[in-house]
Formats: sequence, structure tokens, C-alpha cells
Amino acid sequence: MRKPVKTIFTIFIFGCLISSFSVHAQQKDGKNPDSRPNIILILADDLGYADVGFNGAKDIKTPEMDKLAAAGTIFSSAYVAHPFCGPSRAGLLTGRYPHEFGSQFNLPANSETKVGEGIPLNETFISTVLQNSGYTTSAIGKWHLGAVPNYRPNERGFDDFYGFLGGGHHYFPEDYRAKYNVQVKNGNKNIWEYLTPLEHNNKQVRETEYLTDAFSREAVRFIKEASKKDKPFFMYLAYNAPHTPLEAKAEDLKLFESIKDKDRRTYAAMVYAVDRGVGQLVNTLKETNELDNTLIIFLSDNGGRPDKGANNFPLKGRKGDTYEGGFRVPMFFYWPGHVPAGKIEAGPVSALDFYPTFAGLAGAKISADKKLDGKDIWNDIVHEKNPHKDDMIFAMRHRSGYSDVGVRHNQWKATKAYNNKWMLFNIDTDISETTDLSESFPKQLEEMVLGAEEWSKKHTEPRWFDPEALSKVWKEKHMSDFPTTFQINK
Ligand code: CA
Repeated sequence: MRKPVKTIFTIFIFGCLISSFSVHAQQKDGKNPDSRPNIILILADDLGYADVGFNGAKDIKTPEMDKLAAAGTIFSSAYVAHPFCGPSRAGLLTGRYPHEFGSQFNLPANSETKVGEGIPLNETFISTVLQNSGYTTSAIGKWHLGAVPNYRPNERGFDDFYGFLGGGHHYFPEDYRAKYNVQVKNGNKNIWEYLTPLEHNNKQVRETEYLTDAFSREAVRFIKEASKKDKPFFMYLAYNAPHTPLEAKAEDLKLFESIKDKDRRTYAAMVYAVDRGVGQLVNTLKETNELDNTLIIFLSDNGGRPDKGANNFPLKGRKGDTYEGGFRVPMFFYWPGHVPAGKIEAGPVSALDFYPTFAGLAGAKISADKKLDGKDIWNDIVHEKNPHKDDMIFAMRHRSGYSDVGVRHNQWKATKAYNNKWMLFNIDTDISETTDLSESFPKQLEEMVLGAEEWSKKHTEPRWFDPEALSKVWKEKHMSDFPTTFQINK
């Protein structure tokens, strides 16, 4: 158990002098040599911008998250590195845009059958950085970053992993077990990954609880175990909820009987189950006396799907888009006494910032040749400053024959979507991207398009394609000459 006190100090890790901690650092209590903060990163999957109470949901209840958000800082312009699952997670854990290492598509389903596929091993994950600096590390839930042995969580900086390796999963174990067993019996060698048994550190387990509750239970277990050690912990808790399939517990559905639309009702119940888990984590942190020394971050990996119960209001677009609704997500930071309380930060931040920010909080060494696209935003958060003033934040996704692009730059948003011309919006006054200002501010748009083109020159050819994302014909045509740059449509 580690109790923070209040003097600034420096520490040695593996014999290296790490720079003096800044104001956020926790201090040793004289008994325990390591009182750096725990970090809990909670990721929801395909959660809409408006689908949590702290971002305005009226029909979905998220009381536990709302309490943390109210006592912390809500980021109303939080961006992820990509508008869908796998590349967004790859960006978050590597601190780089996934296009720069060929990971701009989701890994194909059942990728364990295709040797060699996963996020390149020379991209060091933040979990490895924290693990090397003395943190106990855990990944729970959805992985989606490589299912073959060398690419699994235990090989990517996580001491402990409980969850599944693919891009999604069914939620009720008895149901998926029965379907799985039928396929085994039929001799299917390529069983749909949503049915595969969960794993704990590379061993299949027989799960019996509703998946979201199972992941919360494992998170509680990990906190209890980790709190007994004389070192901090990092937990990456990646719920697959409320990603499809839409499956909720009867008791949770009962709470949302007033929602008439069946998909929305089920989705609401799924989000509520995540919120219940967040409450269990907070209680466990209190019981173990860790709450005051833990940074908790919550966000979604990409925008929601309105065709599957989600609501991205007031943002335009949906999961997969470079409109704001694709890659601007609900997010809060909570750490009592450190993260400003009751604050809404409107300045843009990126999930790419987590890597250098966590390393900074941990006083962890990042190797000199590590490329990063984000920045350590901690001091700006603490001092309530916009960390990305004058920076450009990008999103790009490829469709059959063209690419969608989004660029955020101060109050401006440039969007190229669905093969239409570039448009320019004042996102501060027009959050729904309704009024194209490209003809009124051509120089501004040109600057942002040039910025995006310059950025895209760093992209490499995709290492794999998501067969669901692109047509076979398009892939065959473009695999050899994949566009690594793009031009403004005149
Ligand atoms: Ca997702």
C-alpha cells in the first residue's frame, strides 16, 4: 500500500537518473520507495459521443462515470488516431499514427491463422515502457493487435492479460460456448473469433459471467493483487462494449424499458454494465487505499454507429468517418488533487498524447529513437492550457478507391469525406460541420491540406487489409500502388 506525501524528489530506476518529477508527482512515505501514480486507462468500444451522462445522454444512465467526470476534467475535443477499432488502439499504445507502420486497417478476423500478422514488434508499446520502469501491467478485454504468439499482450508489455484476441466477441458465455462446440464438432478449422473461448495469459478459460461483468471482475482482481506490491500499476481495461453484437443482461434491460427502440435499449443496457464496472473499480481503489494515487482515464476507441443504437450528437457522421463523429470521442481524466476538478477542456487532445504523458508521469525512459506523434500534455492539463494550440491533428481512412481525411487546427476543421471535395468548418461555432467555409478562407484550407499531405508522406503501405472494409477488386488493383499521398480535388 503506497501513501502519497508532498515533497518533490528524484529517483533512480535501473541505475539511470530520471529527471526530477514535476508538480504532479507523488512522493514516498518513508516506507515505500515507489509512489508514482497508478494509471487506469478504460476504453469503451464504438461508444457514441452523446452516450454517457457527462456528455449529455438523457436516456442512458452512467452515474459512476459521471461522478468521476464531475470531479475531474472532461475533454470535449478528444481525438483518437483512427476512426475505427484496430488502428485506433494501435495508435493509442504506440503513440504513433497507425498509417506510419502499415497498421491502418483492422487485422483480418481470425488472424491467428495467418502467421506474422500483428502490430510490428519494433513499435514499442507504452505498456513495455511502463513495465520496464517498474510498473505492474495488465490488459483486460479486447486486444485486436495481433493474435499470433509474438504479438499477444504478454509479449507486448503486459504482465497479465485476460480477454480475447480478436476484434469482437459474443457476450454470453453459455451461448458462445455452445456455438463454438458445434463448430469444433463439425471440424471447422477457422472458427469465427467472436466465439473463441477467452484467455488468461495464453491459456483458454471457461468464463461464466456476462463479458462486461467478467472484465470488471478481472480488473478488480488485478487491482487487489497489484496494490499488495510496492510498485505502481498500469491497467489497460478495454471493454468490447457497446460494440456489436448487441447483447445485454435482462436485469440491465429492465432499467431501460422506457426506451422504445430495441437496439437503443440494448445498447443503453450495455453501456450501463460498463458503468457498473467503473463503480466496482472505484470501490476497490478505495478499499485498497489507492484511489488518491490513481489517474483514471475513460474514452471510446472511435465514434458510435447510429445504425446499432449509438448517438454521436451533436457531431456529424459515425464510426469510420473523418467527420467529427468518427474520431472525436467522449473522454475524462480523473485524479483527485491533480487533475483540475469540475473543468471542461475544449482545446483538442489526442489519444496519441497518452504515451509520452504516461511515460512522463512514471518518470520512465523512452528510447531516443522512438518516434512519437503526440506530446506530454500533463502540465497543460494541470495548468488548464490548450496543449495543441497551432498543432494539426489528423485522421485518415481508406475506402474503395479514395481516402477520407480530417484535420483539426485550432478552431478549424478540414474534412474530405466520401469522395467529396474538401470542406472547411469553424468547429468551435459549428460543431456539427454544417457550413462549409472553404471559399471564404481558402488560405486556411490550403494550409491544412498541405499539412495533411506532408503528414501522409510518412505513411507506409498497409501490412494487411480488413476484408470487410474494402472490396476484393479494389484491393487487387491497389495493393501494389497504394496511395501514400493524396491530392486536393480541384
Ligand atoms: Ca471500436
